[in-house]
Amino acid sequence: MKKTPIAQIVEAVHGTLHCGDPSAEITSVSTDTRSLGEGAAFFALKGERFDAHDFLDQAVEKQATAIIVERVPEGFNAGGCAVIIVEDALTALQALASWYRRTLDVEVIGITGSNGKTSTKDFTRAVLEQKFSVNATKGNLNNHIGLPLTVLNTEEHHQVCVLEMGMNHPGEIAPLCSIAHPRIGIITNIGTAHIEYMGSREAIAEEKGELARALGNDGVLLVSAACDFAEYFRSRTKARTIVVGNGRGLVRAEDLKMDNTGSEFSLIVDEEEPIRVKIPVVGRHMISNALLAAGAGYALGMSKEEIAKGLNSVNLTSGRLRTFDSGGVTVFDDTYNANPESMKAAIETLSEVKVTPSSHRYVVLGQMAELGNHADNAHREVGELAADRGLIVLTVGDQALAISEGAASKGGEASHFNTTESAAKWLQEKCVAGDAVLFKGSRAAAMERVMHEAFPNK
Ligand code: ATP
Ligand code: MG
Repeated sequence: MKKTPIAQIVEAVHGTLHCGDPSAEITSVSTDTRSLGEGAAFFALKGERFDAHDFLDQAVEKQATAIIVERVPEGFNAGGCAVIIVEDALTALQALASWYRRTLDVEVIGITGSNGKTSTKDFTRAVLEQKFSVNATKGNLNNHIGLPLTVLNTEEHHQVCVLEMGMNHPGEIAPLCSIAHPRIGIITNIGTAHIEYMGSREAIAEEKGELARALGNDGVLLVSAACDFAEYFRSRTKARTIVVGNGRGLVRAEDLKMDNTGSEFSLIVDEEEPIRVKIPVVGRHMISNALLAAGAGYALGMSKEEIAKGLNSVNLTSGRLRTFDSGGVTVFDDTYNANPESMKAAIETLSEVKVTPSSHRYVVLGQMAELGNHADNAHREVGELAADRGLIVLTVGDQALAISEGAASKGGEASHFNTTESAAKWLQEKCVAGDAVLFKGSRAAAMERVMHEAFPNK
């Protein structure tokens, strides 16, 4: 954060200075005393399990410059730390980010969509770093707390800020846009993630469409040709819309090749001569994410050589289709999370992986959460698709049983396990060099436990 005097913070958060020096300067913002750095303003947020007002002494001990609180606990000794009182600490954090954003001279890129936000953000950062100084969302900090914190992390030298925008419920994207004020927007796709709370795909599209609506006449919206809501988003925005895709679009990929270590394709940007790109991750959906990032580079005037170099060097956040070798078995770690579309994308990816005729391809799957009354059908369909693609299906945990049942109903080979240990043991006994195994499930399914137990060397 650029140096900001406490008096300015008080004004931006609509608070009152309870004690401390109004001219002292803040250089960072924190909501966690464990990672509180020098010159920090500590916001005492209340979560479901914790109330940060219980940790104010730690903030003082760690020499926070200011704390922003809703109340001053009895007997609290602020030492040299300034205390700002606000009505609601979360609203105050958001108000500060919104104010701070308006002081920054940066390009802001917002990324939303049902799947692939974090991966697209990683690709976008990798591309843009070839030409600009970039601040981007760390990991998956994409919500009403993570986004303001990322905005506030932006320093004077940054030229671009890449912000992932997540949502679980209606009405969450517009406030993120009003804080971030993006000029460029990326909508990765529309799936059925969180449909339990959102009701329908149309409602999900409307919600993500808030990003398209937030862009001005001078803005750029990037959408994927494969997304059936691409035209809907074009109709929702004043910005120029750029469509990207595998095979079609202003930015597109042709001559795709995939092996166990990654994907290779010819990148075509605005009808220029193609340039070959190799990304260290498999899957057509990952290429689609890479193309959206390439589109962002194009929108910011980068050359295709710079864009290609960035894509080649990407470092993806863990758990998103990472590949590793374990005694000759190729393991695909897609354990981070799952919903129907990302499950299907993973199954299609594994079915394109080449194995020798005597080798096998296994998908080891856990439940998909938050699907409400779509759950049973959605699980069955995943099983059916896996069987149809000739994959051997293993499922772990009660909620995933319907996947095995779906696979079996299509004549596929499927086994269900109640425990992590029994699934891991089965894999250790059956898997041999040359096989490929993909692990995936919702966060709650923690399929990485099966993976680490079956393939402990990574
Ligand atoms: P979250 O909503 O949890 O923040 P996200 O939108 O950031 O997720 P990623 O973390 O990039 O998405 O990827 C999550 C999962 O979705 C991974 O398993 C990944 O392989 C898969 N995935 C990534 N991109 C796509 C895509 N374009 N279409 C379908 N699945 C995808
Ligand atoms: Mg994410």
